[in-house]
Amino acid sequence: MGAQVGTDLARAARLLREGGVVAVPTETVYGLAANAFDPDAALQVFAIKERPSFDPLIVHVGERSEVARVARDLPPGAEALMDAFWPGPLTLVLPRSAEVPDVVTSGLDTVGVRMPAHPLLRELLGQLDFPLAAPSANPFGYVSPTTAQHVADQLGDRVPYILDGGPCVVGVESTILGHESGRWRLYRPGGIGMEDVTRVLGKEPEVQAQSPLQLPAPGMLASHYAPRKPVVLGDLDELHAAHAGERTATIAFQRERSPGPCRVLSPSGDLAEAARNLFAALRELDASDVAVILAEPVPEEGLGRAINDRLRRAAAQRPA
Ligand code: AMP
Ligand code: MG
Repeated sequence: MGAQVGTDLARAARLLREGGVVAVPTETVYGLAANAFDPDAALQVFAIKERPSFDPLIVHVGERSEVARVARDLPPGAEALMDAFWPGPLTLVLPRSAEVPDVVTSGLDTVGVRMPAHPLLRELLGQLDFPLAAPSANPFGYVSPTTAQHVADQLGDRVPYILDGGPCVVGVESTILGHESGRWRLYRPGGIGMEDVTRVLGKEPEVQAQSPLQLPAPGMLASHYAPRKPVVLGDLDELHAAHAGERTATIAFQRERSPGPCRVLSPSGDLAEAARNLFAALRELDASDVAVILAEPVPEEGLGRAINDRLRRAAAQRPA
């Protein structure tokens, strides 16, 4: 039996109040949401996704006043970042409050917090008196879902309700920033460009190669956001020559390429449009009858940094 998909906010709110899990739309990707203050509800999220317990969930708040319930001792610049980018695709890793259960933060003394911009999710948060802990609504390690149908295809038999908010308008996950040793650090490139963050902070965040605990926090695992089919990233002319005779599919930035099926991310070269189309393209080609997916990097600026990051991780060799 497939999951119910719809726009019934009252039903979603009721399930969440009862300690259940609901798939929800955000402007980045679809999330698998539970009451962030209910450890049993949060545990179900990990179970449904088969997500390892060392990978913390992001806490989604509807109001700025709720930040004080989940985090404390905001580092300098945090308020300015919230003013500039919330609601929106920016997650801040902040010192956690005692009210947030260990299961949500994977036992870390910090918590990732963001205020989402999607109107339906904002309405849902407004009906609840708790924030929502939510990772992407996909099996761990796979490409994130950007439509309700993507969620239904993969987790339909495991979640009781999918709130349908249409296709995600940003299409890649949030930018994650943390503050360590007096400096802001970029943990994951995402829906807010580094240039914009730098403008607000007056200083470029340091790009972090490793997670705060030296654990491979999965937003940072080399192989993540990955289709089942092998993905090869590089110059498309060279890749097509190297893979001549194989059944290949192509993800191109602006210009249609042959042979085989091709998805063009943005004919006009708009990186926001490319980000919006990226995960659906990876999914469609993963489901097509080809042996390998060839992709080219996009310009490394604005949202292009997040797109290239996801393509690199889709292309990274998975451990056997
Ligand atoms: P997602 O699967 O898109 O919800 O991303 C969750 C990611 O946020 C995790 O994989 C971590 O990389 C990051 N994250 C969340 N909370 C924290 C935290 N307290 N410290 C560091 N990274 C965090
Ligand atoms: Mg995820």
